[in-house]
Amino acid sequence: MVSKKMLDLGKIRSGIRDIYEYGNKLSEKIGAENVLDFSLGNPSTPAPREVGNTIKHIVSELSPKEYNSYTSAPGDRDTRLAVARNLNTRFSTDYDENNIFLTCGAAASLNIIFKAVIECENDEIIVNTPFFPDYKVFIEGQGAKFVLVKCSEDLTLDTDELEKNINFNTKAVLVNSPNNPSGVIYPKENIDALVDLLNRKQKEYGHPIFLISDEPYREVVFVEESPEFLPNLYDNTLVAYSWSKSLSLPGERIGYILVPTNATDYTDIYAAISGAARVLGYVCAPSLFQRVIKDCIDVKPNIEVYQRNRNLLYTALIEMGYTLPNPKGAFYMFIKSPNNDGKDFCERAKKYNMLLVPGEGFGMKEYARLSFCVDTEKIEKSISIFKELMSEYDL
Ligand code: PLP
Repeated sequence: MVSKKMLDLGKIRSGIRDIYEYGNKLSEKIGAENVLDFSLGNPSTPAPREVGNTIKHIVSELSPKEYNSYTSAPGDRDTRLAVARNLNTRFSTDYDENNIFLTCGAAASLNIIFKAVIECENDEIIVNTPFFPDYKVFIEGQGAKFVLVKCSEDLTLDTDELEKNINFNTKAVLVNSPNNPSGVIYPKENIDALVDLLNRKQKEYGHPIFLISDEPYREVVFVEESPEFLPNLYDNTLVAYSWSKSLSLPGERIGYILVPTNATDYTDIYAAISGAARVLGYVCAPSLFQRVIKDCIDVKPNIEVYQRNRNLLYTALIEMGYTLPNPKGAFYMFIKSPNNDGKDFCERAKKYNMLLVPGEGFGMKEYARLSFCVDTEKIEKSISIFKELMSEYDL
């Protein structure tokens, strides 16, 4: 009666959402101030003032037709140009509006990219573990095989393992840096090794292998080192970007796909991106927010609270003896359970009304993920709970 594939995908529970819903119910019962809900990556910092001011300006100065209408499918030309110019300034590139396709956020960008590049059910997309759980749904939903490759011990890319898993059917390798859930930024030498590997494999198999860069956290960075800009290192890179995190606009659904001119068969890729967006029914990215982005393209994200939370909690957790990478970007901590059982750790945390997400859904069951995009007060409150938890394992 319904598609078996969609039914199966629909039945996969989102571990993150389940815990978030549990947190909402608990908040109703005992009050939100008593729940330490670290489940969801919903930015706690409000959108910068410029965003609100721009919305007010648009709504008061323009006619509704100008900001409520359909735009062209790839998005308003001036907005695409503004995005291209911003990238050119930051990464010494030479893009114009024809390299940018505006989307309804990173989830849309990724689905459109997968739909555009997947040709048959033998196609394989490689994802590095730990990974954002929705990748599985997106990739399988768009008709390819979801292939997992474990990262190294320090949660950077393991190019030897990648090499073992790349074959003739490999359509793309997906990377996410800064990473959700680990906060790791893949270092330059790591990316260079990946680029070298992909170049060799493209030659060996005689067809392009895409490098898909999912980068909604590009600007959420706490260290000097920035994530590499992959299209400058590898021609067949497709970038999926979103302003959900950098401008705290997750509910507005606005992002883009970057197709570099140097990509093999660039014109066909851009046309396939347009076709895929149409088939998926996106029509165009939200019109009002296309205008907002045009005017706010150079606004810097405010990551002060995340930086403070990260410093506070990381120092405390390390002093208590926990094992975790110090997040260089994004706003998550991936904490190893003292007994290597992330689910057990999350259950124990629940007893203190502290909500974490088991690492299993991210591909590493020894871990638990904590989102620190919350008020600092909650991070402060969590510290004594983490101490209690650690002492439970000492017993
Ligand atoms: N990719 C990663 C790594 C994410 O963490 C998220 C959201 O949390 C997304 C994609 C989807 O983001 P968007 O809200 O822009 O669709």
